[in-house]
Amino acid sequence: MQVTIFEKILNGEIKSEIVYQDKKVIAFRDIMPQAKIHLLFIHREKTVNAVELGLNNAQHAADIFSAIAQYAKESGIDRDGLRIVTNVGRHAGQTVFYTHFHVLAGEPLRTFGA
Ligand code: 5GP
Repeated sequence: MQVTIFEKILNGEIKSEIVYQDKKVIAFRDIMPQAKIHLLFIHREKTVNAVELGLNNAQHAADIFSAIAQYAKESGIDRDGLRIVTNVGRHAGQTVFYTHFHVLAGEPLRTFGA
């Protein structure tokens, strides 16, 4: 399996601004933010996308959503709202093949899906 940029962030080879971490999950700021706040939540154990995760590692989803909820409460971004997005495959525009959940917040968000 190809080594992705997120594995290099996980092992410290590439620097990123980490905003949250626990034993299973880390979150860091997206390098090309699509909103005032744009974070990426990943599990420390690799899967390629959310479909593989759901089929083989569904516990990862619970770990990631628990981390997002904890971060949202602690940072207060849940007060005005946030969006959680995960892209799977070519038609969705997935570019990094390591499962990640985008968290967008900090301002009113545009509609999506177009
Ligand atoms: P995808 O398009 O796969 O859903 O999302 C990949 C995301 O990773 C993109 O939003 C992109 O800006 C972000 N990204 C790509 N390379 C890096 C990097 O080196 N550092 C950080 N922090 N984000 C990255």
